[in-house]
Amino acid sequence: MNVAVKGGKAPKSKLLKGATGDWEVIVGLEIHAQVNSRSKLFSGASTEFGGEENSHVSLVDAAMPGMLPVINEECVKQAIRTGLGLKAQINNRSVFDRKNYFYPDLPQGYQISQFKHPIVGEGEVIVDVTPEEQIRVGIERLHLEQDAGKSIHDQAPDKSYVDLNRSGVALMEIVSRPDIRSAEEARAYVTKLRTILRYLGTCDGDMEKGNLRADVNVSVRKPGAELGTRCEIKNVNSIRFIGQAVETEARRQIALIEDGGTVEQETRLFDPVKGETRSMRSKEEAHDYRYFPDPDLLPLEFDQAYVDRIAATLPELPDEKRTRFVEAYGLTPYDAGVLVAERDSADYFEAVAKGRDAKMAANWVINELFGRLNKEGLSVTTSPMSAAQLGAIVDLIGDGTISGKIAKDLFEIVWTDGGDPAAIVEERGMKQVTDTGAIEAAIDAIIAANPDKVEQVKDKPNLIGWFVGQVMRQTGGKANPQAVNTLLKDKLGL
Ligand code: MN
Repeated sequence: MNVAVKGGKAPKSKLLKGATGDWEVIVGLEIHAQVNSRSKLFSGASTEFGGEENSHVSLVDAAMPGMLPVINEECVKQAIRTGLGLKAQINNRSVFDRKNYFYPDLPQGYQISQFKHPIVGEGEVIVDVTPEEQIRVGIERLHLEQDAGKSIHDQAPDKSYVDLNRSGVALMEIVSRPDIRSAEEARAYVTKLRTILRYLGTCDGDMEKGNLRADVNVSVRKPGAELGTRCEIKNVNSIRFIGQAVETEARRQIALIEDGGTVEQETRLFDPVKGETRSMRSKEEAHDYRYFPDPDLLPLEFDQAYVDRIAATLPELPDEKRTRFVEAYGLTPYDAGVLVAERDSADYFEAVAKGRDAKMAANWVINELFGRLNKEGLSVTTSPMSAAQLGAIVDLIGDGTISGKIAKDLFEIVWTDGGDPAAIVEERGMKQVTDTGAIEAAIDAIIAANPDKVEQVKDKPNLIGWFVGQVMRQTGGKANPQAVNTLLKDKLGL
């Protein structure tokens, strides 16, 4: 596989065409991922989603005078876990800073974040862009910080409200290097990062709830030239929109430069309805956050043994799992990649494959099961068919009890009505006919009734497919296909 070198030049196929020639797109992403934890980063209030407004707010979250933040150890562990999953440097000493700005949904008047000394340093993510292409995206840092509350403007014509349920919830800000070269790569990177976080159990990755959102930094340059001025597109909340934001913003910058203009460094918003980005604030309006170490919090310190204990609890991650699936089960890297995209899917597959033909198991899980789940908007955790049931179907094919074609009918029955596949085959008489006498009788009848076809097949051997079809129809699809083929060739003299 071709793993692109970090910060490397984009291949020709990834360049965008402008009026003056090719342009290279440079993308770096800042992901805000909500930490999976029961309580907030510095208070005991619940992080539960969907409660009544302002029902999960402690005095700390509401910034009452004299309240002191107390670090939630679970959030620290989750950040370390995530850093380990990103093969990153874990910093045994980090510092919380105040990032000062005014906003109605930020009662403290500052966000507690980490600036100069983040808890996690450099790491990497290996991203599958297509089945044939992998790239390496460098991680610059991961730091812990508080989320803000939410302003609500649509409840009354002359008032705005604020909901502080989210205020103080722990976020991990994960900053990539500008190693991404296209909208497709950006989408693939976020998809992979989300998979890793979900495996680790450190963020649920639910973008609809805003639990994972991206700030997208985009610039363009002529291939090989210096980096151009970048614009940052704030808070993009779906993987599809991230791709669209990259594409739209890159094209805007190219058109602007080719028109004789210059790109101003600014923060922009992506409007998915209009399919455009528009200016939010320019560099001149940029905040001076006056970062300084939070005097209410000590530096965060732990020893290597603490990190090692957490490392020992890490699950097998998707890259390792995929390698194992290829080596242990003989799957193609592509099929293995599909199966490991979700931990639950990988577990389901392994339960089906255990003690069985793994390639056949993979085929049934990917093509039949996933196909059906997708169609009905379900996932393996809500699947009406258990791994044991699908495994039993694979067994029945494997030992020749039913044909692959009948197995699809059986799949339908088990999907809809449930039940034990072997018992259903027995009850409904779905067993494959391997009795050559019965198959021969069917073939003899077809040959007798179709002398013209028997003549033609001698010159056109492909016509044998028609005979196979006839035999299958006569036997209700239950004839063993191999036996049919052998006997037909014999009787037709092919
Ligand atoms: Mn941030």
